Amino acid sequence: MKPLASYLGGRWVHGTGATTLLLDPSTEQPVAEVRGGGHDLAGALDYARTVGGPALRALTFRERGAILRQLSRAIHAHRDELIALGMQNGGNTRSDGKFDVDGASGTLGYYAELGETLGDVRTLCDGDGVQLGRSPRLFGQHVLAPRRGVAVHVNAFNFPAWGTAEKAACALLAGMPVFSKPATATALVAHRITEILAATGALPDGAFQLLLGPTDDLLDRLGGQDVLAFTGSGQTGAILRGGKQVVAANVRVNVEADSLNSATLAPDVEPGSPTWELFVAEIAKDVLQKTGQKCTATRRILVPRSLLEPVREALGERFAAARVGNPVDEAVTMGPLATARQLTDVRAGLARLRAESDVIFGGDGAVATPIGAPDGKGYFFGPVLLENRDPASARATHEHEVFGPVTTLIPYSGEAADAAALVRRGEGGLVGSVYGDDRVWLTAAISEMSATLGRVYLGSAKVVGQTAGPGTVLPHLVHGGPGRAGGGEELGGARGLAFYQQRTALSGDRALLDAISGKA
Ligand code: NAP
Repeated sequence: MKPLASYLGGRWVHGTGATTLLLDPSTEQPVAEVRGGGHDLAGALDYARTVGGPALRALTFRERGAILRQLSRAIHAHRDELIALGMQNGGNTRSDGKFDVDGASGTLGYYAELGETLGDVRTLCDGDGVQLGRSPRLFGQHVLAPRRGVAVHVNAFNFPAWGTAEKAACALLAGMPVFSKPATATALVAHRITEILAATGALPDGAFQLLLGPTDDLLDRLGGQDVLAFTGSGQTGAILRGGKQVVAANVRVNVEADSLNSATLAPDVEPGSPTWELFVAEIAKDVLQKTGQKCTATRRILVPRSLLEPVREALGERFAAARVGNPVDEAVTMGPLATARQLTDVRAGLARLRAESDVIFGGDGAVATPIGAPDGKGYFFGPVLLENRDPASARATHEHEVFGPVTTLIPYSGEAADAAALVRRGEGGLVGSVYGDDRVWLTAAISEMSATLGRVYLGSAKVVGQTAGPGTVLPHLVHGGPGRAGGGEELGGARGLAFYQQRTALSGDRALLDAISGKA
């Protein structure tokens, strides 16, 4: 079995602590092991700060972008191998695996392009300058420079490729060295990606390190120039954000956490219309893709009462078509949950939701005979469609994210204000989708819900055939959301670099400012 090493201080090193087995969630067979803990974290952080940081800061945006281009190409060149590892260690179908791996290479490619556009500069101007005095000579200008610390990235289990790469793309382009810690249970892909990136020779020494296993006292070693970007459960996010040293040193923190994403069907959508077909296809895909283990998956579907029956029927049919089993069998369209813990959590979460909802499809999620799985083995869980009995007083439906292929129909009156009020009960989400073609209704609904959502996806007849659906995170647009979603923000083009940069207000002689900020 393959023992996976961390990549610290320019070397592949094993820890000295406990060994964790990484399993194939379809068979429960071990596929790799990690011995974490006991690493020289002080040395690794120092290596990033004193070797990786200066090397990156010496490069222009164009040069950093060229590095990202090489990393993107290297991941793409190993696409099939990475997809296979994701199937083995994450329970991905081939299509799920592509989503993760292509998300990684695509995001790196996007930021490579941005680097090219930003050009041969090391500092960016933030907005236009402003005249401060009576004469135009005294001027003010905000500039953005890379922070001089380490970018620590703690990632969730569900996107080991994309999660690693999207954070790294922004940090490296901004000029900060990366210290990446994947979730242990599915670390096989992140580990292989690190091997691939290191083998390109494109990265300066110290620009990218990988820590497998526990973080030990890593976060107690961070300082005011370091940043911490976390993706995972709200509970862990709160622990990390509240860490003593993180608080004491005012370490900049970004949290991407839980979300009760909503999809709202507007009352003008007629069954069988192009917008209806888009809604049904995208929501079914969104709930079933990656076995529902997607931060952007739709957990609540708001349906006007008049349209409930056809929605039940259409989504029930789609869910019934899912073929659950071991993804190595090509007939399988939905793999297992990623870990035994996930299975326990999803079962318990479904029980909470069922206390206030009726089951429309899927019962308790049990799968009698998963395709291609050894008898009694694997963390399989079938799709479940619920319907809430009393949305106004419901609690768990709006508050408890079940991280699996489970979603709830929420009947509403058809009024835009009522839909928006129910969406807001999620108390902050990553994405809300709205399907409809009535501009007046849509404008009213969105103006009432957008402040509680990081992203609003509008599905209408005009975009049929052109979109990837609400669950696909695009590097051009911000990813993150207020409240329960963690309060963070990633990606969004050049906005994604800001977390890794210090904004400084310069004031003085305009000609001098122009020279310093690269305008002259
Ligand atoms: P998790 O249990 O919170 O773990 C996330 C990461 O934190 C893992 O790398 C984990 O490492 C690490 N970790 C856990 N406890 C830690 C501690 N005390 N100190 C330092 N690191 C610690 O979450 P998960 O089960 O991997 O992911 C599922 C959750 O992530 C869901 O709730 C989902 O909503 C959320 N999620 C959000 C987004 C988003 O973009 N908003 C994306 C994906 C997932 P180990 O694996 O080694 O324990």
